[in-house]
Amino acid sequence: MSTTAATPSGEFTGAPVIQLGLPLIGGSHHRSSSGTAGLELSEAARSEKFAQMRAGELGSLHSWELVTAVDGPGIRMTTFLSGCPLQCLYCHNPDTMEMRRGEPIEATELLARLKRYVKVFEVSGGGLTISGGEPLMQPAFVAKILSGAKAMGIHTAIDTSGYLGAHCTDEMLENIDLVLLDVKSGDEETYKRVTGRELQPTLDFGRRLAAHGIEIWIRFVLVPGLTDAVENVDAVADFVASLPTVSRVEVLPFHQMGRDKWASLGLKYELDETPPPTPELVARVRGQFEARGLTVY
Ligand code: SF4
Repeated sequence: MSTTAATPSGEFTGAPVIQLGLPLIGGSHHRSSSGTAGLELSEAARSEKFAQMRAGELGSLHSWELVTAVDGPGIRMTTFLSGCPLQCLYCHNPDTMEMRRGEPIEATELLARLKRYVKVFEVSGGGLTISGGEPLMQPAFVAKILSGAKAMGIHTAIDTSGYLGAHCTDEMLENIDLVLLDVKSGDEETYKRVTGRELQPTLDFGRRLAAHGIEIWIRFVLVPGLTDAVENVDAVADFVASLPTVSRVEVLPFHQMGRDKWASLGLKYELDETPPPTPELVARVRGQFEARGLTVY
């Protein structure tokens, strides 16, 4: 959840919409909002842009990068969309929480960029990963990108908390090869403390993915004093073990790399004093997943 005016319906909440020069390769989580301050759109132009958003022709992009061996198999183009309904205490990209901080990008432009890497994806067994923020904040845009990518024969993945799983249509599921499902906690109370939201939609979405036979990689962020309780991890592991299409679990140790971003955004950061997990704690938590026959990375 964001404290901002970003809406779950996937609409812009005030970002100026103009063409911006985005990098051809790379992208960064550190790019500041471009120099659009002071540019105003007429009401007519704003309405047209909202209509484009609703049609999925226009999205709000934070950044993108080419990565290897993360966010899915092979070399991947990971696109970080703006806007997220959660506000995780440990978020290391809090600048993606507000959709209005993103930069407008047309679906055609993103697909054209993707097309340049088709051979790279083919050779490496990679593809596209749509991350965020929360991709399902912009379901129409994501649907368009997914179907465009599949039309080019590209492997597709989304990285999601599942909280907005109801935004993902069955048609979209047909164009998704892999879901990186972030399960932030296993008991309702802890989930709420971590994210500010409810756990149930994530559970529902995970079960729906499994019912559709979609491969799932689970991500669990291990935060000492927050998500590390034995019962909490057991609850995550029990849920994950009940999903037959989970092929791996990633236990991600908490780190402090996002701390300065919270300060620069004027947001209160609650984990200042939280250390990374010890190797012993990581081993214990990995063991809880492995004890259920899960493959842990
Ligand atoms: S779901 Fe991801 S992007 Fe959203 S607040 Fe949590 S960690 Fe940040």
